[in-house]
Amino acid sequence: MDKVFSRRNFLLGGAATAAGLAASKVVLPQAVGAASGQELCTVLDISQCIGCEACVEACRETWQATVPDPVTPMPQPFPQRVPIQDWSKKKDVQDRLTPYNFLYLEHLSVPHKGQEAEVHLPRRCMHCMNPPCTNLCPFGAGRVEENGVVHIDPEVCLGGAKCKQVCPWSVPQRQSGVGIYLDILPEYAGNGVMFKCHRCLPLVKEGKLPRCLEVCPQQLQSIGPRQAQIEKATSLAKEKAVADGSGPDAWRDYVYGLTENGGTNTIYVSHIPFREIAAAIEADHAQRRGPGKGAAQGAGGGQGKGAGVTKGGKGLRTGASGLMHMHPVANSMENAENLTLALVLAPLAGLAAGFTKLFGKKRGAPPAGQDAPPERRGEKGGA
Ligand code: SF4
Ligand code: SF4
Ligand code: SF4
Repeated sequence: MDKVFSRRNFLLGGAATAAGLAASKVVLPQAVGAASGQELCTVLDISQCIGCEACVEACRETWQATVPDPVTPMPQPFPQRVPIQDWSKKKDVQDRLTPYNFLYLEHLSVPHKGQEAEVHLPRRCMHCMNPPCTNLCPFGAGRVEENGVVHIDPEVCLGGAKCKQVCPWSVPQRQSGVGIYLDILPEYAGNGVMFKCHRCLPLVKEGKLPRCLEVCPQQLQSIGPRQAQIEKATSLAKEKAVADGSGPDAWRDYVYGLTENGGTNTIYVSHIPFREIAAAIEADHAQRRGPGKGAAQGAGGGQGKGAGVTKGGKGLRTGASGLMHMHPVANSMENAENLTLALVLAPLAGLAAGFTKLFGKKRGAPPAGQDAPPERRGEKGGA
């Protein structure tokens, strides 16, 4: 993120309408985008984490200043139900994800075999192999590098938060009052910029390590080509499963990220099963939210159940407040081609619907609000 916002350049160079931008910047599924590249994957052995938060501090020191402060007064979005989100006066918050904080630590006491196990868990973007945040961004602001880094281009993002909505962990966080939307129609088009961990992309491009990895006194995080890292994580998980008395066949209980959301380039290995950690996280988040606020913020199955599997981007999610769950996650981009096609076709379908309405009226079609039910619109002989 060494670039600064260049809204003027974007407007001059792009000279694009929102529709044109959407059409030209549609991002293909990651499977296509990175066909020629070598993805880098991080493996974190959380049994080694002492919870010192040196990683969090290093991330903040390095990247917080790259997130701009908002303009004042901040434009009031229309309609007013679109929320303004301003974290600029709360930059010191580091116990959850915010636009100014890309990494936080979960400090947990996890019931395990009749005792309480102390667990510390660094959380940030998982860098999914086929990320819905990127594939489903209507303005093509999401990027997937050949090295597997998933990031958001702040020069293109309008802050609509589709990425957060479809991310199974609700990772991207919005800062209102910054970004390109201020130069377009600030009241009507957008609401800021979404920010998240970019895995220190500018540093990685220079061949340097991500900051959180570099400063860790325990050196519990490693980075390398995905296949080698998978082998490493698998063998480590087998060791942990054996050491925990579960036997080598139970190793999948001790690894997280291998298959989540179709596979991520962040793989956690633990000394106790992740379903127990997931339940402890859920209990902790419920407590942090206070009474009357359920653990589940999203629709779909798994709500309040420790072993729930999220379905696409609609499962149990605790990220509405910048907190990440650790439940199993099904592959939300299984139908990536269909979804991408739908994204491309959606504006065309809208135009077609507009024309149908316009010319349909002239031909004596039913007045607005009395259209034929959707299942009948395709019938032979219809308008
Ligand atoms: S964790 Fe969320 S924000 Fe990160 S790459 Fe996956 S879908 Fe995108
Ligand atoms: S990889 Fe870089 S940007 Fe991401 S959490 Fe670590 S230090 Fe922060
Ligand atoms: S720096 Fe290392 S040991 Fe300290 S909290 Fe971060 S991951 Fe854990």
